[in-house]
Amino acid sequence: MILPIVAYGDPVLKKKGTEITKTYPDLDVLLDNMFETMYNAYGVGLAAPQIGLPIRLFLVDTKPFAEDEDLTAEEQKALKDFKRVFINAKIIKEEGDEWAFNEGCLSIPDVREDVFRQPKITVEYVDENFEPHTETFDGLIARVIQHEYDHIEGILFTDKLSSLKKRLIKGRLVNISKGKINVDYKMRFPDQKKKR
Ligand SMILES: [Zn+2]
Repeated sequence: MILPIVAYGDPVLKKKGTEITKTYPDLDVLLDNMFETMYNAYGVGLAAPQIGLPIRLFLVDTKPFAEDEDLTAEEQKALKDFKRVFINAKIIKEEGDEWAFNEGCLSIPDVREDVFRQPKITVEYVDENFEPHTETFDGLIARVIQHEYDHIEGILFTDKLSSLKKRLIKGRLVNISKGKINVDYKMRFPDQKKKR
């Protein structure tokens, strides 16, 4: 089932997510729905707060990035096969010199900006079977995980921009929160309730 994606301005996107346990109700259904919702919107990652749940859960599938012809065959293969569920994740280490990448977000349609992040991360998490992992990632895979991880910390990529950039996009963000935007997937807008 495709779920509506929560738009910029909804307070749930600002909440720090809480950890979940194995007994979380219908987790398998939730994961199926989240994957379906992400693929429907052509996303490479989706975090639970984006569908209205302030819990520490996000998923990633970097396959669409594998088509980038500027990457090596090895990088393309890694991106093509990277599909993962992250539960109760914690980034325990970030390393290297920050690099810029033009990020977007399904909750903030049509806004894309360069965001600086470190290239290499180590993450502790449990997967969909609650098996624990500690893994190190780099490149675009690390980038997507950092973006989704920020969501479960209540942070959006627009929070990381310079104050000048923030001022420049402010009007567009207000319009998104009011639903004044054309988007081809289902969304829920915080300020639309006031209409009727
Ligand atoms: Zn996002």
